[in-house]
Amino acid sequence: MLDRARRDYQDLAARGLRLDLTRGKPAPEQLDLSEELLSLPGGRYTSVDGTDVRNYGGLQGLAEIREIFAPLLQVPAGQLLAAGNSSLELMHDCLVHAMLSKLPGAESRWVDQEPITFLCPVPGYDRHFALCERFGINMIPVPMTDAGPDMDEVERLVAENPQVKGIWCVPKYSNPDGVCYDDETVARLAAMETAAPDFRIFWDNAYAVHHLTDAPAELADLLGACEAAGNADRAFVFGSTSKITAAGAGVAFFGSSPANLKWLLANNSKRSIGPDKVNQLRHILFLRDTEGVRTHMERQRALLQPKFESVARILQAELGDTGLASWTSPLGGYFVTLQVPDGCAQEVVRRAADAGIVLTPAGATHPYGKDPRDSVIRIAPSYPGLSELEQAIEGLAVCVRLVGYEQQAAARTA
Ligand code: PLP
Repeated sequence: MLDRARRDYQDLAARGLRLDLTRGKPAPEQLDLSEELLSLPGGRYTSVDGTDVRNYGGLQGLAEIREIFAPLLQVPAGQLLAAGNSSLELMHDCLVHAMLSKLPGAESRWVDQEPITFLCPVPGYDRHFALCERFGINMIPVPMTDAGPDMDEVERLVAENPQVKGIWCVPKYSNPDGVCYDDETVARLAAMETAAPDFRIFWDNAYAVHHLTDAPAELADLLGACEAAGNADRAFVFGSTSKITAAGAGVAFFGSSPANLKWLLANNSKRSIGPDKVNQLRHILFLRDTEGVRTHMERQRALLQPKFESVARILQAELGDTGLASWTSPLGGYFVTLQVPDGCAQEVVRRAADAGIVLTPAGATHPYGKDPRDSVIRIAPSYPGLSELEQAIEGLAVCVRLVGYEQQAAARTA
């Protein structure tokens, strides 16, 4: 088996491939679905309430775009903020503001309570972890289960330590595992006792409408559950149209309690006189209504689903009976997680890069870039064309066999 894997790897390397599976970017055909955006708003410059979108002001964003996305993000339109082009930017700003301006319910600013700590369900999104590193926020990894983070562990950690101020959650089709938090997890997150009075759930619902099947996953309403549990200020909800319309020119959203929204607006008013409402109007005219978003996402799905099916088919054919790997079959979102034998992920990624297939660095799915088992590889199937993707996954499978069998051979001779 090892000899065959070595031959296959030599053949792979000789092909001189140049393939990139690193980031979950929409493919050009997906962006083409929103081409009409570029010709909008087409001479119109007032919103329904008469706002001149070309001018300053309107910090909370246009009401119509908030109404379109309110049901999708499970936030009442009046408690939703429509902002610039990036939800990651909103998460960054919320951290900075919490550091520098007392949150509702807080005893003091986070800078005055340092060191602070966030819980990080793993595997997770590397840019969340990068934000923590940027601001010197300690990270405690918490294992993911099929239903969300291990809630026994989360409840224990938030109850015992007032320095634990937050948790990162990608609750629907999580990055990278594709996990959807179940109702019990949402209820426990909303109701759990936290030692910190200013604890926040960073609810990054980046894939709220990004289904890959006919049966969209249902996510319980965190904001409503927090309010019902007497923890109205606990949830910060984020989302964006980055993977709905244009990844560099979409609209991002923040939703929360009235008190938190007021806090963010007050802080934002110091950094901007208002968001890009022309782009918001463009999105209103293009998407029309909530149903319009759903219809548009069906078109996205038609492009993405075949790619995910190919990944699953090739992994099954090439690795299914090797005992060397397991992988997720997500029902939505942008990623597949490939699990290889402990101690192999970095080497697989290195061999793949040497053969011209660039993957997300192994470890990126964990805080500080360190996967303690060195076994998780994130696959991002969206960007390459179908045939390029298939070549990349076939090549990746060769690398998994090579590294896995090499490890087994080394163990036998040790
Ligand atoms: N959150 C998650 C979980 C993501 O996977 C991504 C992009 O990959 C983002 C946020 C980035 O969102 P935005 O483009 O709105 O900044």
